Parts: sequence; structure tokens; C-alpha cells
Amino acid sequence: MAIKDKVVVITGASSGIGLATAKKLASEGARLVLGARREERLEELAGAYQQGQVIYKKTDVTNKDDVAALVNLGESTFGQIDVLYNNAGVMPISQLEELKVDEWEKMIDTNIKGVLYGIAAALPTMIKQGHGHVITTDSVAGHIVHPGTAVYAGTKYAIQAIMDGLRQEQVNNKIRTTMISPGVVDTELFSSISDPVQQLKTKKQEQTMGIRAEDVANAVAYAIDQPENVGINEILLRPIEQQ
Ligand code: NDP
Repeated sequence: MAIKDKVVVITGASSGIGLATAKKLASEGARLVLGARREERLEELAGAYQQGQVIYKKTDVTNKDDVAALVNLGESTFGQIDVLYNNAGVMPISQLEELKVDEWEKMIDTNIKGVLYGIAAALPTMIKQGHGHVITTDSVAGHIVHPGTAVYAGTKYAIQAIMDGLRQEQVNNKIRTTMISPGVVDTELFSSISDPVQQLKTKKQEQTMGIRAEDVANAVAYAIDQPENVGINEILLRPIEQQ
């Protein structure tokens, strides 16, 4: 089994990278369990595929019960969870001196705690099954910080530690881990920026050089499509113009 028939849970599947990945994997015959807050978008997506191949549940990843319910839905419907793709994320960047504390909390709750809730929900099942694959969308920002990205980059640096810790701890349980680390991708992510200076800067970048969400989806599919003993631990991809 490479991609076909695998049961894949995807958070943040209502737009951008998550949506493109859902379409890519569904086209390759995976069975999908999609979560996001905008349920109507998930419903529309599920409706485009064969009955029962794509199921969904309204999910806020900052709520651990919601994340557990999403993973449970996958297991109770399909009997297994092969892949958990923690993709939901937000990026309301600003310089620290702006003191946008609520936005810092939102990034930490979504980008770090949301991922941990996913791991907490899926890991026991994967250990019991004797196989599994945890994928998380990290970022080039998990490797480098710029003025304005301190907290966002902090959340993505944290994912590096969490995912590599998970990899090391699970070597005997046949659980694979992958970080997908894109640079600028043309998605709705930039609409969450409230700081006008950062808005201007990132909008320009996104419009001039952003790669497509589909390019990132291809990287996710590549990681899943490997033999079970091959772990693709990180894929870093960015526009060739991006420094
Ligand atoms: P989008 O804004 O298009 O997608 C973000 C997704 O996350 C949406 O489906 C959104 O769904 C979901 N989401 C946000 N908050 C929550 C929440 N609390 N609960 C559940 N779902 C949530 O942006 P991208 O596709 O670009 O972002 C996907 C990931 O890629 C993020 O982790 C981001 O940090 C990362 N990334 C993006 C880059 C880029 O340049 N675009 C570069 C590097 C990394 P909904 O609003 O319906 O809940």
C-alpha cells in the first residue's frame, strides 16, 4: 500500500496546502478524514469524491476534544489511521514591540498545541497498529527568523524539536515522521496578518514569488509514497527567488 487506500487525517483541509493535499491524495485513492473550522468548504470537497472516500468533521485544532473526535471518526469509520497530517496553522506576524499578545497565543495554540493534540489523538492507535506516519507542516521559518517573525518562527522551531523527538522515540514502533517545510506559498495564510507593515511586505512576496499549494501537496504525496521502511524526515521547498 503506497497511497491508495491509506487512511489519512488532514487538519486545515479547507484551504491552501491542506486543500491541495486532500485533492492530490483523494485522486490517488486515499481515504480521507478532513478537519477545519469552515465545515461548508469540507462538505463541498467531500461531495466531489466517491461516497465514503472523503469524510469530514468541523474541527478547531486549539480544542483537544475536537482533534480527538476527528481522529476517532477516522478510526471508527475506516478501522485504522495510516497517516496524520497536522497542517492547520496561522501566521499573524508582527514585531514583538507591537505586543499583539492575543496573536502570539493564537499562533502557539494553533501551530504548537494543535499539533500536539493531533499526536496525542493518533499515536496510541499507530502504536497499536504497529505502523503509522505523522506529517506536520513546518516552514522555512522553522530554520530562520526575521524581524517580525519571532513568535511564528518560534512555533515552527518548536515543531522541529517535537517532530524529531517523536521520530527518535518511535524508531521501534515503525512510525514515520515528516516535516514539510515550505517557503512562500500563495495561499490565504497572509490574510491573518493584522500588522500593516508585515501585511505589505508579505503580500508583495506572495504575489511575486509564491509557489502553488499543489507544489507542496506533491511533496506530501512523495513522503507518503515511499516504502514503509523509508522515512522522509523533512522536505524543504521554496521559490527559487526566495533567499
Ligand atoms: P491557509 O490559510 O490557506 O490554510 C490554513 C488552514 O488551517 C485552513 O484550512 C484553516 O481552516 C486551518 N486552520 C487555521 N486555524 C485553525 C484552527 N484553529 N482549527 C482548525 N483549522 C485551522 O494557509 P496555508 O495553506 O498556507 O497554511 C497551511 C500550513 O502551512 C500552516 O501550518 C502554515 O504555517 C504553513 N506554511 C505556509 C506557508 C505559506 O507561505 N503559505 C509557508 C510555510 C508554512 P479554517 O479557517 O477553516 O479552520
